[in-house]
This record gives sequence, C-alpha cells and structure tokens, in this order.
Amino acid sequence: MTPLMGVNLAIGGMVLFVGSAIGSFLNVCIHRIPLDQSIVWPSSYCPSCQAPIRASDNIPILSYLRLRGRCRACQASISIRYPIVEGLTGLAAVGCYLWLGLTVEAVSLFLLFLLLLPATVIDLDHRIIPNELTYAGLIVGVGLSVVRPGLAWTQSLAGALTGGMILLGIRQLGQVAFKQESMGLGDVKLMVMIGAFVGWKAAIISIFLACLLGTLFSIPILVREARGGQRGTHQIPFGPFLSGGGLLAAVLLKTPWFPWPG
Ligand SMILES: [Zn+2]
Repeated sequence: MTPLMGVNLAIGGMVLFVGSAIGSFLNVCIHRIPLDQSIVWPSSYCPSCQAPIRASDNIPILSYLRLRGRCRACQASISIRYPIVEGLTGLAAVGCYLWLGLTVEAVSLFLLFLLLLPATVIDLDHRIIPNELTYAGLIVGVGLSVVRPGLAWTQSLAGALTGGMILLGIRQLGQVAFKQESMGLGDVKLMVMIGAFVGWKAAIISIFLACLLGTLFSIPILVREARGGQRGTHQIPFGPFLSGGGLLAAVLLKTPWFPWPG
C-alpha cells in the first residue's frame, strides 16, 4: 500500500464514521420529532426503560452488534432499524465524498439525503411529514444555492415553486376523483423542499420517478386486494416515493450522461 492509498483510506474511514454518527443523530430525530420532543436534550436514552445510554454504548453500528441488539439495562430488543439508518447514512457520506469529493455539491447531496431519510421513516411510522424537516430543509436548500456552483438560487426557487404547484395540482385532482384527501399537505411541502435542492427540471423528474415507483409498488397490493374482494383499504404513504424520486433526480442532476433538456 502506497502512503497516498493509506491517507485516502484513512479519510474514507473517517467520512464513514462521521456519517454513521450523523445517522445515529437521525435516529434520535426520527424518534423524537413526531413526539414534539427536543432533539438535543436529554441525551440518548432507551425508549423502553428510559435508562441513559452510555457514550461507549452509543457507537454507531458497533454498539448494536456488541450488545446483540439489546438494551444493556433492561434487555429490551433494539430495532434493527437503528443500525440500518446509521449504516445507510455512513454509506451515503462515503458515496458523496468518493463521487463528488469535498465539495459544496457533495455536501448538498448529503444534506438532501439527511432530510429525506427521516422524512421517509417518519412518514412510514406516523403518516406525517413534520414541518420541522420540510421548512428547515427549504431554508437550507435555498440558502445552499447561493454558494452552489451546480444550482443558481433562481433555479432553486423555481424548483421549489414548480414542485409545490405540481403536487398541489395532483392533490386537487385526487380530491375531485376520490372525494377524499388522497395526498397530505406534508407531501406538498416535502416536494417544495426537494425542488429547492434540485431545480425545476429535476423537480419534474422527481415527481415522475415518485409516481413510477409508487405505481410499481402499489400494483401487487392492489392485485392482492382485488383478489380478496376488498378495495382501497390500504393507505400507501407517498412521502417515501417522493423521497426516493427526489434523491434519484438529485443524483441524475450530477450525472454527465443524463440528457437534461436545454
Ligand atoms: Zn432499556
């Protein structure tokens, strides 16, 4: 191994560790934001027995493995979701770093991931997308565009506006067609935020990809329901698909071969 490879490996390892530590903080956000609890105080505790978690038991992924997924104090099992969120966030950090280097664009993409992952998990759990995430995300997205080489601030604002308008339109159509609320305002705000990170063209691509992903995912459920003679009993949240579409579009935005018009 050459010294340069050693340095690169060390930096990569550090990015992975910092990324998964941020993922550990995301777990706190996912648990506490829907409960309207502070995300900074108190420090991590076991949701079952409320015992504070020692710093040495709070190492991303490794602590979960060492404790075999159980709380040290009460032995309650800890959801596998915790290390998964930590691992995904660590990998996202490394991915952004290896692909885009230590750049504003890499930071923007990673920040978008940091907003979309909790939005997805909270929407799956509670069927809400907290304003804390989407409002903060909108401010971060527009603010970053002032210093981003890849997206002008006018583009960012146009993206937020386009994303929001299209989803409001879809929401209105859904209300007319199904005579009930088919999409929450949380989804609209999420798309406003995504638009601020990707601009108006990629906002349209995001919505298209979200609809595509949502349809592919819904077909087996609808088929099963049709066979069982029931209809429309499953409410499928749209936030996770918007998040997936938004992240894919943000990646495509940085992909040179993708045929972006004009
Ligand atoms: Zn416990």
